[in-house]
Amino acid sequence: MDILEQMYNAEILKEPSSLLFQQLHTYLQATYKEETPKVLEWQEPEEEYAFWNTFLTQGNNEALFQEVIQRSIHIHHPKYIGHQVAAVAPLGVLTAAVSALLNNGMAVYEMGKASSAMERVVGEWLAKQIGYGKEARGIFTSGGTLGTLTALLTARQQVATEDIWNMGTQKQYGIMVSAQAHYSVDRAVRIMGMGEKGVVKVPVTHRFVIDTSKLEHTYAQATAAGVEIFAIVGSAPATATGNYDDLQAIASFAKKHKLWFHVDGAHGGAAIFSNTYKSLLKGVEEADSIIIDGHKMMMMPALTTALVYKNGVDSYATFSQQAAYLLEQSEEEDWYNLAKRTFECTKNMMILHWYAIIQKYGAKGFAAIVDRLYGMGAQFAQLITEAKDFELATAPDSNIVCFRYLPENASTTQSNTINRKIREALLQAGDFYIVATTLEDRFYLRVTIMNVFTQTKHLQNLLATIRKIA
Ligand SMILES: *Cc1c(COP(=O)(O)O)cnc(C)c1O
Repeated sequence: MDILEQMYNAEILKEPSSLLFQQLHTYLQATYKEETPKVLEWQEPEEEYAFWNTFLTQGNNEALFQEVIQRSIHIHHPKYIGHQVAAVAPLGVLTAAVSALLNNGMAVYEMGKASSAMERVVGEWLAKQIGYGKEARGIFTSGGTLGTLTALLTARQQVATEDIWNMGTQKQYGIMVSAQAHYSVDRAVRIMGMGEKGVVKVPVTHRFVIDTSKLEHTYAQATAAGVEIFAIVGSAPATATGNYDDLQAIASFAKKHKLWFHVDGAHGGAAIFSNTYKSLLKGVEEADSIIIDGHKMMMMPALTTALVYKNGVDSYATFSQQAAYLLEQSEEEDWYNLAKRTFECTKNMMILHWYAIIQKYGAKGFAAIVDRLYGMGAQFAQLITEAKDFELATAPDSNIVCFRYLPENASTTQSNTINRKIREALLQAGDFYIVATTLEDRFYLRVTIMNVFTQTKHLQNLLATIRKIA
């Protein structure tokens, strides 16, 4: 067989691959049960590089996936409580495989016939959950960062006084956002050419959410300085602390000043499914747009983000070379040619993850995971409150909890040093995976409980381990 015949030999799906699915099955079972004791086998970047550099030409190709598994962080491990990436529900392995092989590029209808229609179905389904009306539509894009950039581009076309997509501008435009917002908002604004001045930060309260009493003043100050504000972003929740901005208050403010209201629900938009926690999102139905990541709280493989517009036709203006008023009819014309409204030209069939999980498990699966993980966040906060030698940064709304070890009489500098060293020691030991954040001038340890296998005993064990290191 020549090389191309070899590469397209369908038999690869039978032999090593059936073995691979068995391997993944074994891996998953062992990880759930902590039979692989470490979350991560630590290696310095240079060592890891050297390994893969040699493996490329001298390694055994049959052992490739086993090596990848062993040398990666184990997100399904109960002691993985670090970044906000989903522990994928195994159904996602199947949807990812089908998407990979069919490789429908989605840009135009015939290049994603089934999947383009599925996007509309799931977009409308999500819109209903959010509380939007019949005009609402969703599109799907490669990550929350791109989702927010897309929404802000739409906002600028819909609200700003000039047609900037087509004409450019000399004027200073800006958006308002929490001082604690995810850096993707800042980055979107800079990509849009508005620079640092374009990110108008609203001060936060002691809970690290937008101080709504400062909205008017912040707006007046920016406007007086010559910044034309066209949008405001609410964090649901803010990444660092996991606390939700008051969306209802922001919605009223946006309405009063005729601003576009975008909700960054990358992490916590999924709380709309939970009867217990959906009140955190009160006011979201008034937002002009919202992003929700499938690959954070919704158990799907990366990357897949829903961007839902309250008024679906708004999205046609984002990348259009025509003036917005000419586009009003276009939704009826070609909702199915998705690249007109997404940043991507080719993208993967990311909608399969949503469609399959909704069809098989329904909305109650999403409700259950939010209830479970946010509930564990509250439980962990309780453990910390009860421990005299630990301190919370703030009472958490969600499954993200920031805290620190607090030795008696330590200064801020001493306590920062100790907690920084704790985090380093934990990372290198590999028994737990947690991260860190700095709030004001204080260094905090930060966990996100992403995993339904993480139990109270693991969290108690984490505190005990930290004490020992300290
Ligand atoms: C993770 C996150 C993002 C970025 O989303 P990606 O899908 O990683 O691009 C944006 N905002 C918030 C609040 C997040 O938690």
